Amino acid sequence: MSDERRTESTAHQNFETIAIHAGNTADPLTGAVVPPIYQVSTYKQDGVGGLRGGYEYSRSANPTRSALEENLAALEGGRRGLAFASGLAAEDCLLRALLAPGDHVVIPNDAYGGTFRLFAKVAGRWGVEFSVADTSDVEAVRAAATERTKLVWVETPSNPLLGITDIAAVAGVARSIGARLVVDNTFASPYLQQPLALGADVVVHSTTKYMGGHSDVVGGALVTADEALGEELAFHQNAMGAVAGPFDAWLVLRGVKTLAVRMDRHSENASRVAEMLSAHPRVSSVLYPGLESHPGHDVAVKQMKSFGGMVSFRVADGEAAAVEVCDRAKLFTLGESLGGVESLIEHPGRMTHASVAGSLLEVPSDLVRLSVGIESADDLLADLRAALA
Ligand code: PLP
Repeated sequence: MSDERRTESTAHQNFETIAIHAGNTADPLTGAVVPPIYQVSTYKQDGVGGLRGGYEYSRSANPTRSALEENLAALEGGRRGLAFASGLAAEDCLLRALLAPGDHVVIPNDAYGGTFRLFAKVAGRWGVEFSVADTSDVEAVRAAATERTKLVWVETPSNPLLGITDIAAVAGVARSIGARLVVDNTFASPYLQQPLALGADVVVHSTTKYMGGHSDVVGGALVTADEALGEELAFHQNAMGAVAGPFDAWLVLRGVKTLAVRMDRHSENASRVAEMLSAHPRVSSVLYPGLESHPGHDVAVKQMKSFGGMVSFRVADGEAAAVEVCDRAKLFTLGESLGGVESLIEHPGRMTHASVAGSLLEVPSDLVRLSVGIESADDLLADLRAALA
């Protein structure tokens, strides 16, 4: 089968196959099976305007980034994927493409701190208004909307409280008020959850996390199934310029090839960690959608393949004890970010979510967040038990 035909046919293949083959056509010059890193800014034209393959300048398009963008679109079941320099660059592009002064957005009460900061401290300054709602409650979303609501923003599972929002139900609310639904799919990844199929208009990713998967790249993505919307976003991507560089695009493209096997292992390990913590006397509560006690468990079962690698928990003795647990863990590295093969631990209140202190999104001070990696689960459990001892 020719390479072109193989790419076209990925639409009918299973996720694991798409992850490895979509966008990954053999290099036409050498047959290299991995797309080369086209570390280049400009392209020789065959006469004025005679572009080879449509490439003229790498902010507008670059073959390595194009390969990743094709792959991202296929993974999310969309038609257009766009790769950015970071997750927040992707979010910023989306806001500027879709919103104007006077527009209103509903955002979750446990959005990633940087997303909240983008609305509160950046978009707010040019006249975009927002309301904060508990998006796990569909009626709360409806109540927060106004006649000027253009976007409903959902993050599920959410960072760091692992809240679950019913994507299909909120898509229904968004449609009924003429707004678009944006889903940040960073925590789940398209292997575990496919928001476009559930009615979302745009999927956002920090590809820094599970998509890249190895803590070695910062990147972001937007994916949509609506071609006209995809064109609009692509126009803004080029006009604003926060694109993924060729090497970063290549690292994410490599990372996603193992996404399925990594997510299976992340989910398995996280389930064991959540169970152990649930029975631990120094832990007052465990936030993991895989636990039957989680309020969003039934919705998670409905819309996710498994429950992912993120676990948060509250330490019974309060903030100082939570900080101490973070400091004492050894195999769990104390650090921000998530989604890499290695396990990480952090104190959201003082680290990733310090920017929401004092706002409606403030997180509990006794909260610890784990990004459970794909090491031996036994070793991870032993490390956490020692840190909690
Ligand atoms: N969305 C979520 C859920 C995140 O956790 C993050 C970063 O932690 C972002 C978006 C922003 O992505 P980036 O750090 O790549 O800009």
